[in-house]
Amino acid sequence: MPAAVPTPTLLWFRQDLRLADNAALAAALSRGGPVLPVFVLDDAGEGRWPMGGAARWWLHHSLAALDADLRGRGARLILARGDSEAELRRIAAETGAGAVYWNRRYEPAVRARDAGIKARLTAAGFEAKSFNSALLFEPHTIRNKQDRPFQVFTPFWRHCCGLGWSEPVVSDAPAKAWAGSGAAGQGLGSKLAELGLLPSIPWDAGFPAMWTPGEAGAAARLKRFLESSAVHRYDEERNRPGLDGTSGLSPHLHWGEIGPRQIVAAVRALGREAGTDPASNGARVFLSEVGWREFAHHLLFHFEHTPERPLREDFERFPWAEDSEGTKLRAWRKGRTGYPIVDAGMRQLWATGWMHNRVRMIVASFLVKHLRLPWQGGAAWFWDTLLDADLASNTLGWQWSAGCGADAAPYFRVFAPVTQGERFDAAGDYVRRWVPELAGLPDSYLHAPWTAPAGELAMAGVELGKTYPRPMVDHAEARAEALAAFKALRGEVTERDA
Ligand SMILES: Cc1cc2nc3c(=O)[nH]c(=O)nc-3n(C[C@H](O)[C@H](O)[C@H](O)COP(=O)(O)OP(=O)(O)OC[C@H]3O[C@@H](n4cnc5c(N)ncnc54)[C@H](O)[C@@H]3O)c2cc1C
Repeated sequence: MPAAVPTPTLLWFRQDLRLADNAALAAALSRGGPVLPVFVLDDAGEGRWPMGGAARWWLHHSLAALDADLRGRGARLILARGDSEAELRRIAAETGAGAVYWNRRYEPAVRARDAGIKARLTAAGFEAKSFNSALLFEPHTIRNKQDRPFQVFTPFWRHCCGLGWSEPVVSDAPAKAWAGSGAAGQGLGSKLAELGLLPSIPWDAGFPAMWTPGEAGAAARLKRFLESSAVHRYDEERNRPGLDGTSGLSPHLHWGEIGPRQIVAAVRALGREAGTDPASNGARVFLSEVGWREFAHHLLFHFEHTPERPLREDFERFPWAEDSEGTKLRAWRKGRTGYPIVDAGMRQLWATGWMHNRVRMIVASFLVKHLRLPWQGGAAWFWDTLLDADLASNTLGWQWSAGCGADAAPYFRVFAPVTQGERFDAAGDYVRRWVPELAGLPDSYLHAPWTAPAGELAMAGVELGKTYPRPMVDHAEARAEALAAFKALRGEVTERDA
């Protein structure tokens, strides 16, 4: 008797929009039978954190790229919108699928939803299986010596590195066509445009010049970063926002167009070529930044409340400043604070959907310490405007900057925006690019235009209060008020400036 042909497998794509090193895909292909790729847009399933506007733009283009890659292999992406489980069951009924495979996500609401889906699909007779393609070290596998989650990065990363690196599941995307998947996928689901992911107000004009969503775009970015040897200078240059000194991989990583296993494998291959592992100090530091992404997921997994509430509970009582009309928050969002490095960052974010890490720390510190506005308001703005908006990394970044999270910058360490600008953008390339109305000022006044003599301002065409705002707060006063608020919360602290 001929062996029974396996039923089709639904391959449920989520934040793993790639074909290479995709564990769920590899398992679905080895199960045999047609593999039907599905994406379900399910805002309600994201809990309190449905995707922001910038992320939707990315997703639209990434799905288009994935569909093109699938068509090249004789398959096509089935698109649906609504409740994930209901849509999976509907598509399974229409196609006769008997299995649903996916790669795991780690956000609290999504985790709870997925666990329920897995249990109910299994009870209904489906083969429901999940895999890891997003992380090097899944949070539930990592504990410290006291059998608790880590809360400090250095021991966390040392522990992880001691476990050894996992290799990519399949090194390349499967090349051959997937029998039957093309025909079975015809005519299902709504079209990409009908998902309505693109913005109705065209604020995305600057995105395409900088980004190429999709697996090929991710691979090209990694290749450029490694081959240009920027990776070897990373330890020196990653803090200089005027340079192209970081990988720019964050939105690709968030959407799983490339996975961390692939990044580690590529960086380690450089080491083998160089005869040292890691290939350079830059390469080592770069891998440890990928480690921060792992740490962020570890924290979110073990401390589920942190997207909304501080890890350090005492900060729940922090005496925030008054901004009932929202004018201070608006000035910050628009890049009109009067501090050039802060304004440059906020404008870079709006124009490109991305901001350099050093500047993310500066603008976050400014919001929380100089304006004393709650970090949650800043995190929400980032969530809506960042193409790489990621619940784990955004939460970690904001709580770190606010001084209320794991391994955080102490609250009393107040970033001085002028000093930060002078130190990390000494030649002023970054500020001149994003705050062009100040471009004519000499370097010595660029980061503090209010200190420039009237003649210098006039020569540069700068009229403070008209062409560019005066500083909305005085640094020394704001710092003193922030420290006083902190003291009221915690008692005496040692003062220190950054
Ligand atoms: C307030 C604040 C908010 C942030 N919000 C996000 C966010 O929503 N999404 C996001 O991906 N990152 C966030 N970050 C972390 C960091 O700023 C970005 O990951 C980084 O700037 C992305 O640029 P890159 O890809 O060139 O990074 P590279 O320097 O090339 O680093 C490589 C990769 O490592 C990871 N990584 C690097 N630094 C960090 C970090 N500090 N925390 C976690 N992962 C890191 C990223 O995945 C990044 O793509 C935030 C940081 C701060 C201070």
